[in-house]
Amino acid sequence: MAAQIIDGKAVSKQVNSETAELTASLAKEKNLQPGIAVVLVGTDPASQVYTRNKQKKARQLGFHSELIVMPESTAQEDLLAEIARLNKDPKIHGILVQSPTPKQIDEKTVILAIDPAKDVDCFHPFNVGKMLIGDKDGFLPCTPWGVMVLLERSGIDPSGKHAVIVGRSNIVGKPMMALLMQKAAGANATVTVCHSRTPNIPELARQADIVVAAIGKARFITAEMVKPGAVVVDVGINRVPDTSTKSGSRLVGDVDFDAVAPKAGAITPVPGGVGPMTIAMLMRNTLRACQKANGLPLSGG
Ligand code: NAP
Repeated sequence: MAAQIIDGKAVSKQVNSETAELTASLAKEKNLQPGIAVVLVGTDPASQVYTRNKQKKARQLGFHSELIVMPESTAQEDLLAEIARLNKDPKIHGILVQSPTPKQIDEKTVILAIDPAKDVDCFHPFNVGKMLIGDKDGFLPCTPWGVMVLLERSGIDPSGKHAVIVGRSNIVGKPMMALLMQKAAGANATVTVCHSRTPNIPELARQADIVVAAIGKARFITAEMVKPGAVVVDVGINRVPDTSTKSGSRLVGDVDFDAVAPKAGAITPVPGGVGPMTIAMLMRNTLRACQKANGLPLSGG
């Protein structure tokens, strides 16, 4: 039987339309508007696209949105001064500094400078700690939260399942582990995390009911690494050469989709899987930041 295709485009559309509705009622009933500031330092072309997309989405949902572009040569103190200004700005509830930043900028210092109440990326140790202990009051990191929402809304319950995550980055792998293993509805998985020092990834992956690939290597997860019927979540985004396209390249995930899909029970495509969920959850976090700043109950995912 063909695998269920987990449709991130459709689910993110659902999440975004709820965010837009909640935003409209905030405006109508409380005269409030969620506000997001995206700070771009430098001229990295991919970052320019990402920040433009975030700003466009924020506007579509009815948010106040600011894109702050700073030159490649920006000194660390100048970026910190900008963050301090945004921390105080009552129109801004979420602050995001687009990564990667130029080499003179220390990203750790930048993360610590953002007011945790405006840390909608959930990178600040305060929010990471809250996530780990299952505190519902903080933010959740956008990509792993997007995966959780995608699973839930696709009718896949990780409870009692063995999830194998390949990748242990602070942005994806580690928080994915924390969210899947929470003692909470929609979680309760038993989790194994693999990384570049794990000697037997194929053997471990084959034991998984749910495989999450967050490696950054095109088609790393092959059909031989997947148990028949497993749920396969592909977080990877890799550009590979493709002479049949106008640009000469295309995006693929960390999973060999064509080979794995016939074997899997359910699978996320790339593009159109996890990717659109990340931005939807960023917007949901910004809405939550606005609700929290105004003492209102917080919307879930
Ligand atoms: P990252 O920081 O480079 O981390 C990659 C992880 O994979 C590391 O833990 C690394 O292990 C592990 N790894 C690398 N090569 C390996 C190998 N040969 N065998 C086993 N493990 C290996 O990447 P990331 O930020 O987590 O991103 C992962 C992928 O997801 C990338 O393609 C990225 O573009 C994509 N991504 C997508 C979204 C989205 O919205 N869809 C969001 C974020 C990231 P070590 O720790 O041992 O080095």
